[in-house]
Amino acid sequence: MSTPIKAPIVACSRLRMLTDGQGITTLVCFHGCPLRCKWCINPFSFSPDTKYLTLTPEELYAMVRIDALYYLATGGGVTFGGGEPLLYPEFLQEFRKICGSAWHLCAETSLNVPWDHVQTAAAYIDKFYIDCKDTNPVIYKSYTGKDNAQMLDNLRRLLALIGPERIVIRLPLIPDFNTDDDRQASKTLLAEMGIEHFDLFTYRTNSN
Ligand code: SF4
Repeated sequence: MSTPIKAPIVACSRLRMLTDGQGITTLVCFHGCPLRCKWCINPFSFSPDTKYLTLTPEELYAMVRIDALYYLATGGGVTFGGGEPLLYPEFLQEFRKICGSAWHLCAETSLNVPWDHVQTAAAYIDKFYIDCKDTNPVIYKSYTGKDNAQMLDNLRRLLALIGPERIVIRLPLIPDFNTDDDRQASKTLLAEMGIEHFDLFTYRTNSN
């Protein structure tokens, strides 16, 4: 008998409107993240002290289907965030099989995971919101503690696989780490790659 697929889930936030995808959504946050962003607003999502539920896709489906009518009426569904949802591609695959094709599934991801995780998720996730941080490797590393080469390579491959319509790139202005000019340089580079949809915003910190 095969081991059931399970994933650590720290939070489910119901009835969100137009904040993490189209229509009414439930945001499901996974535990675990490969990055350590300086201004992370969800440090509980990787803290070893965080209490979380370890759920199967069936168990998560039983929790979120209470809002199925809202999803169907508004074109919404479930947005997977975290932490890093692409750490759990088989869970996403199984969840899609259970919920069917009518729910709109989104992933909020850094894309800084192995390519096979991205490739699996691409078959089951309708829309990717990718937090690129900054394309400058020095800025990215100083802010996240990790290289951005894997993220950029994954982005090129994902773009070739699914095209630009299902991808939104989030480009933050990061206090103390990048400038508007840096962000514009990222946007130019990504647009040259073929990215068409951007979301520009500013990270809030205690000092701004
Ligand atoms: S990717 Fe998100 S959850 Fe992970 S450290 Fe950065 S801000 Fe926090």
